Amino acid sequence: MNSFALADCSTVEAALSQLKDGAVVKAGGVDLLDRMKNGTDTPARLVNIRNIAALRGIHPTDQGLTIGALTTLAEVADDPTIRSQYTLLADACGHAATPHIRNMATLGGNLLQQLQCWYYRSADFQCLRKGKDICFAFSGLNQYHAIMDYGGCPSVAPSSGAVALLALDASVELTSAARGKRTVAIKDFYVQPDANPHRFHVMADDELLTAIHIPKLAPGTRSAYQKYGEKESHDWAIADAGILLEMDGNICRRAVVAMGAASPVVRRSHEAEAVLTGKPITPETARAAGKASMTNAMPLSMNGYKVQLFPVAIYRTVLLAAGQMDRDPSAAG
Ligand SMILES: Cc1cc2nc3c(=O)[nH]c(=O)nc-3n(C[C@H](O)[C@H](O)[C@H](O)COP(=O)(O)OP(=O)(O)OC[C@H]3O[C@@H](n4cnc5c(N)ncnc54)[C@H](O)[C@@H]3O)c2cc1C
Ligand code: SF4
Repeated sequence: MNSFALADCSTVEAALSQLKDGAVVKAGGVDLLDRMKNGTDTPARLVNIRNIAALRGIHPTDQGLTIGALTTLAEVADDPTIRSQYTLLADACGHAATPHIRNMATLGGNLLQQLQCWYYRSADFQCLRKGKDICFAFSGLNQYHAIMDYGGCPSVAPSSGAVALLALDASVELTSAARGKRTVAIKDFYVQPDANPHRFHVMADDELLTAIHIPKLAPGTRSAYQKYGEKESHDWAIADAGILLEMDGNICRRAVVAMGAASPVVRRSHEAEAVLTGKPITPETARAAGKASMTNAMPLSMNGYKVQLFPVAIYRTVLLAAGQMDRDPSAAG
């Protein structure tokens, strides 16, 4: 790891004043220190925001819920309001990584973690995402890579939290010293690699992610998240599904089907949502939704299994959200 200066900040203003000349923010440090140890990131200065008390906590508001960016995944997963009302977010945070990591990792850092493509995370490979015109995954080891919407970079969206927050129509609050606060919907936050392979999100270098806002839920909303992995635990998803159902009795008034490890940016399957909307939730409609989610799938040489796995993940998670199936014991986390 390179040597670096450390600016330990206890207020947002102090941290914002340090965000210049290539300084990099450290929250829990789980992702950032991993990249520094790999040698892919060599920042000269870290801005440690972990001790900014104002950026922690879960607060009900007139509009819904505000979560401070430094709230840990464990705190989100254990919060009674989130568990009872925003169940898929509690599921997503509570099944990410390991108990130790969930106590360190922050929700803001989870949304901002970088790609898990093993070529990208090795200092030995220079690819499209690092300014070259090559991707090693297309002809190399691509079993964990994307099956849709990938253009020139089939890396996958790594954040479980983003899957849940996309389904919840959440937004992030970004703050800079020069321009103050702005709010960006999660659906507009991440950048498709074909639009700009050098940016993962729309946040500027002088901005801090300060909070996550989640709107109030419509009456009759039920939700669930499940993640499937190669290992039972301690790993990122190879397929994950965040499901939100707005129910009138047994009829689904509105459905959101969010998917994580299918594409470079968390995505909704509008095809699966159309299958569920206006219908009763049954094993048949849930199965049809899972099948519809693969409409645009274009698997690579080693990840055709995901075309079978995602429909199962969506089928079981739709029924879990509807209260018609227990949590899948073979789900990871
Ligand atoms: C073994 C293992 C398994 C894992 N499994 C999963 C999984 O299943 N699901 C999942 O979602 N994740 C998983 N992770 C990833 C882990 O959850 C993330 O690394 C962690 O959430 C990052 O949070 P952090 O606070 O440590 O971020 P940091 O490492 O501190 O920061 C991450 C990035 O975001 C920037 N940043 C952080 N906070 C802010 C902010 N407030 N404003 C501006 N910039 C900021 C940093 O500069 C850095 O680039 C796993 C990790 C490991 C090691
Ligand atoms: S998948 Fe993306 S990050 Fe991975 S090697 Fe290809 S271009 Fe780079």
